[in-house]
Amino acid sequence: MCGIVAYIGKRECAPILIEGLKRLEYRGYDSAGIAAIDGGLKRERCVGRVAALEQKIEELGGCEGTLGIAHTRWATHGAVTDNNAHPHRDDEAMGHGIAIVHNGIIENYSSLRTWLTGHGHTFRTETDTEVLAHLIGHLYKGDLMAAVQGALKQVTGAYAIAAICEKEKDTLVVARKGSPLIVGVGDDEYVVASDGSAIVAHTKQAFTLADGCVAKLTRDAFKTATLDDTPWTPEIRELDIDLAQIELGGFDHYMAKEIHEQPASLRTTLRGRVDLASGEIVLGGLTGFERELNRARRVIVMGQGTALHAGMVARFLLEDLAKIHAEHDFASEFRYRNPIVDEGTIALFISQSGETADTLAALGESKRRGATTLGIVNVVGSTIARETDAGVYLRVGPEIGVASTKAFTGQVMVAAMVALWMGRRRFLSQDVVKTYLEAMYAIPAAIEHTLLASDQVRAIASRYVDRENWLFLGRGVNYPVALEGPLKLKKNSYIHAEGMPVVFIATKNSQYEKVLSNIQEVRSRGGHVIAVATEGDDHVAGVAQETIFVPDVPEALQPLVTVVPLQLLAYHAAVLRGKDVDKPRNLAKSVTVE
Ligand code: GLU
Repeated sequence: MCGIVAYIGKRECAPILIEGLKRLEYRGYDSAGIAAIDGGLKRERCVGRVAALEQKIEELGGCEGTLGIAHTRWATHGAVTDNNAHPHRDDEAMGHGIAIVHNGIIENYSSLRTWLTGHGHTFRTETDTEVLAHLIGHLYKGDLMAAVQGALKQVTGAYAIAAICEKEKDTLVVARKGSPLIVGVGDDEYVVASDGSAIVAHTKQAFTLADGCVAKLTRDAFKTATLDDTPWTPEIRELDIDLAQIELGGFDHYMAKEIHEQPASLRTTLRGRVDLASGEIVLGGLTGFERELNRARRVIVMGQGTALHAGMVARFLLEDLAKIHAEHDFASEFRYRNPIVDEGTIALFISQSGETADTLAALGESKRRGATTLGIVNVVGSTIARETDAGVYLRVGPEIGVASTKAFTGQVMVAAMVALWMGRRRFLSQDVVKTYLEAMYAIPAAIEHTLLASDQVRAIASRYVDRENWLFLGRGVNYPVALEGPLKLKKNSYIHAEGMPVVFIATKNSQYEKVLSNIQEVRSRGGHVIAVATEGDDHVAGVAQETIFVPDVPEALQPLVTVVPLQLLAYHAAVLRGKDVDKPRNLAKSVTVE
């Protein structure tokens, strides 16, 4: 997610920080900011591009100093506003002029915020990050590194941070756990960044800070240690960087990168919201609407394209787990009917960008008709996120490839959490919820395992790549996945998919026997069957020409793994056909027109 750049040395920091942020722009972000220490602490932050921040700094007469931190934010907690943009500072009244930038999520921010409020702190933003800044300020006794170590010991979650304090003009403190951070070691200067691309212009000597470690950088020396202050010695190496490669993390396209990111992105989706031990699901975004959700008689799930396919799975999950009447609809069509909506209706809107025009219009219509509205969106503070009554964010990070992949699995995972949350309040026992949560926790590893089939899928794609007609078949909860497969294939390869070869989702579930019969029907008509089957299923492997195995997971969660081979198939077919995978023609990432 997003980016951090920090500098301490002899040069003016602002140009170095701004240039570094520009290098990190490819990671996706919604706002940017900078803080520097000269006489005192100075901060500038704004929504939008780094260029807008640069202009703002220029208009306000610069941001002087040789010690500074900067950030591109991808909001997870709090809307996308100038005020929520980083850097954040400690308490204005009782603080010490500390500022921090942070990538990641502080999971226990809510209890820390309550505790700090009880100790007289006043918060000025909605972010989890500000809570960490206040905690560092609260613990500060003249040693920034010690305060950062003390604060991070109390934090659960993932983070990369950089901190400065106007009382220590020669100190930059950085730390990380779970989010990347590299320290570039120059001549009497250090440049720290989320990846090497923001560092190489200044120095090639660098070390990656170890997980759970903190570094204190003064202009001509550094100290590195764990949170308990046990010394840790880094290994300085030469950065060997091909910038294009960094941006893509070693993949040829964003679509491939995002397909492979799914285990990590789904872990983030679950993080801090699900307690395996107690079987509790905590969805802060639903707070205040428990009554409406408990009383709901019906849910209409709406979206467009991939989001609607996730919505079809959501419908299945809501019926199956929450035992509530659910249906799905194209957002684009809903408002052109005379839909029956009342107070007992929950209208659930799914959109990656949160700006999809048709989905927004359907949201407006539902509100006018008196529904309680819920959003499942990725972009924090987007229009759908703001205008729905309640909702749950995906937290899968920016999705750059136009073909949606990690957003789809994020949407299905969030839908499963919402369905269990509702089911638990209706009739589901704690034990049943626990069993599902355990299965959900196992999904990232199951996807990791499925991704190992990428080379096999490429080989299959190369055998059939010239066929113009493909057919995708799936039943039950895998029916939406069968719709998602050709959507991906058509979008990226311009192959029209209704026809042969025939891709079957034939995993072990309640529709298994029926799908087997369908396979036989296709075989008897000379079709080429490519099956996605449950590991160890020799039967399907015996009747299909090609079989891609996926791990066995509970039926309701199967789309999370069965979609992965289809994503890979669409990806490899597009590459083999020489297409522009990340920007298919005539398509936009966020469809903001009707
Ligand atoms: N959780 C933080 C926020 O929402 C940081 C997000 C990021 O990684 O940029 O402000």
